[in-house]
Amino acid sequence: MRTQTASVGVDVDSLRYYYRIHGLDESNATNAAWRVGVPRFVQLFAAVGIKATFYCIAEDLDLPGNAERLRALVEAGHEIGNHTWHHPYALTRIPASERRAEIAMGRRLLEAAAEAPVVGFRAPGYNTSAAVMADVVASGHTYDSSVFPCAPYYAAKAGVMGWMRLRGRQSRSVLGDPTVLTAPRDPYRAAVDDPHRRGDGLDVFPVSVVGGVPLIGTAFTALGLTGSVLALRAALATRKHVTLEFHAVDLIGLRDDGLDPALAVQPDLKTPVASKRRTFARVLSILRDRARVERMDVLAAERAGRGGRRRRV
Ligand SMILES: [Zn+2]
Repeated sequence: MRTQTASVGVDVDSLRYYYRIHGLDESNATNAAWRVGVPRFVQLFAAVGIKATFYCIAEDLDLPGNAERLRALVEAGHEIGNHTWHHPYALTRIPASERRAEIAMGRRLLEAAAEAPVVGFRAPGYNTSAAVMADVVASGHTYDSSVFPCAPYYAAKAGVMGWMRLRGRQSRSVLGDPTVLTAPRDPYRAAVDDPHRRGDGLDVFPVSVVGGVPLIGTAFTALGLTGSVLALRAALATRKHVTLEFHAVDLIGLRDDGLDPALAVQPDLKTPVASKRRTFARVLSILRDRARVERMDVLAAERAGRGGRRRRV
């Protein structure tokens, strides 16, 4: 039996959040991430034969058709995770009452619309803190997947934000706590007072990073087929568990889908969809052949069963 496990997540951030992160006028944003990107991922996962977790933003349920699309994900056997109510990039810095509402209401609204349990949390921009984790636990989640210990990503984000400030543009993104770079690389139970250290708190599934390369959709797009396969094989050779991370927009394209040219600031949108799909399909097929690919809620339940522990409510 294969003892190595893997899980695949998709953050369903609708396009308005990309306008916000790049400081653009969001009135041109369409619903293409949900309307086009999500079904393409569902099709890809069906072709490969895996189930995944879609981290959704409750506010996006207000856009026409998205509640039905959410239920279709559940019917296809996928898990719905909580990606907050309004995707505040400054989740770690907003007042406690707002932070709690973002986490608890996100879960409640998604669960009501999905008609299925929502037990996993992923913070916007992968920024978490002890206070965020305490709210994630208190609102009934059983695991978190907000930790992304990737130094090049951290450095690039710091660089882009500094560059945007120099050009007089304000990114809505927030640079997180650098202790994330020292967090464990395989799934772990986080300390109650520090989500980036081991302890007695919630189960954390960090997004996989190998040799500085994050196993995320934008990195696969940049690396191309050969580089992506090498990165995945390196991760499979060194990790007990591999967490891949995509975004719904990873399977839409500027030209393929006639998006607003202003979105060219997001370089991976310029890559043709067929080429991205080919790379992702190859990576996911290798993952499926080498590891037991499970939804994160299933793996979290297995870990809880093994520990035989009771969770604080
Ligand atoms: Zn997001």
